[in-house]
Amino acid sequence: MVRRSSLVVTKAGNVGVERNIMSKKKADAIVTELKKKVVETCRAVYTSGLTGKRAGNISTRIPNRDQMIITPSHYGHNKTEVGDLLVVNFDGSLASGTRPPSSENRMHLAVYKARPDVGAVIHTHSAYACVLAVNRMSIPPFIDEMVPFLGGEIAIADYGMPGSDELAANAVKGLGDRSAVLLANHGVLCTGKNLEKALEAAEIAEHTAKVYVTALTIGKPILLPDDAVDLQKSAYGFLRDSAD
Ligand SMILES: [Zn+2]
Repeated sequence: MVRRSSLVVTKAGNVGVERNIMSKKKADAIVTELKKKVVETCRAVYTSGLTGKRAGNISTRIPNRDQMIITPSHYGHNKTEVGDLLVVNFDGSLASGTRPPSSENRMHLAVYKARPDVGAVIHTHSAYACVLAVNRMSIPPFIDEMVPFLGGEIAIADYGMPGSDELAANAVKGLGDRSAVLLANHGVLCTGKNLEKALEAAEIAEHTAKVYVTALTIGKPILLPDDAVDLQKSAYGFLRDSAD
């Protein structure tokens, strides 16, 4: 009886170990796939002209873990590879990686903690967003696509020193439940359910800033009617939470 009981325990133990190995392999495969997507996004932000090769940073949340993958500090988006990326725990400690993580990792972590719906964060120094950021001007809802895709106004966050907890807190406050926020005297931060959607938000935010700055040079842009904003905001929640 003793021997049979030991055998059952051993078999059950083996099954448990095998399951753990399989689930770890599956989790590792997901992380590898996400890292490849971060690299693709690095190339996209650089080749599209959204930001300089060493400016800005990109991250994505690792599902079901309190961790994110983030780009290294001050390293070219044109040459970043999977092996250059870092995994950072939500307590700020480094889980894996050899390079120093982006100095803005606190800002990325703060957004993930405040917004469970956000799966990816892209911070750039795109030109027209910076024009408004240095003038500390927000962008009111004045063109249709900014409401359903970004959630309405692109607010200007209060100033915080680069890399500081103050900047992180101000960015979260300015972002609210929307998908883009201007960072005073610095740049812009955009979010999405995944990297593709965060990139789309970054592109729309820069386009919106460009149209707004240009419109201001020839007149005074007319804001969207309140009822149109209300209607389009209801679409925002659906679009924000869909995977594509
Ligand atoms: Zn920056």
